[in-house]
This record gives sequence, structure tokens and C-alpha cells, in this order.
Amino acid sequence: MTSLPKSAFANVDARMRCPTPDCWGDLLLMPTGRTDAEGIPSFQPFTACPLCGTAFELEQDMSDRDLFLRVSWLRANPGAEEPA
Ligand SMILES: [Zn+2]
Repeated sequence: MTSLPKSAFANVDARMRCPTPDCWGDLLLMPTGRTDAEGIPSFQPFTACPLCGTAFELEQDMSDRDLFLRVSWLRANPGAEEPA
């Protein structure tokens, strides 16, 4: 199974374009339905393209908490520079 870095989803849409050639599908994070004590959701370590059906493993190069907070920050600060 092809693997993708989880950090690739750390953008305002929390999604990335499917890397399969000629596929225009968007990959989304799949929530596990569980949240921690602060309400931070956790995500499955895999995802699949809704168009071509290809499954991808997600490298845990970023924690779900950091990813969620980054996406929330980007949504709250549209057009702002990402913090270094
Ligand atoms: Zn695809």
C-alpha cells in the first residue's frame, strides 16, 4: 500500500489531491469517532480515494492533535502566514 505523510493534510481544507495519475479525487482524513478529553478528534491511519478507490496508509509524521490544531488555526486565520 502506498503511504502518504499525515502532515500533507495540514492545510485549510484538511485534504490532499489523490496522487494517482489522472485522478482528480480528494483524499480526506477519516475520523475514528473518538475524541480526547479536550474534544480533539483522532483519525484513522489510512484513507481511500472516493474516485479511484485506491487506499493509502498514512505515515504518523504528525500527531492527530497537532494536525487538528493546525487545521483549526489555518481556518481561523485565513490568508495568514503559517507559524514557523
Ligand atoms: Zn484517486
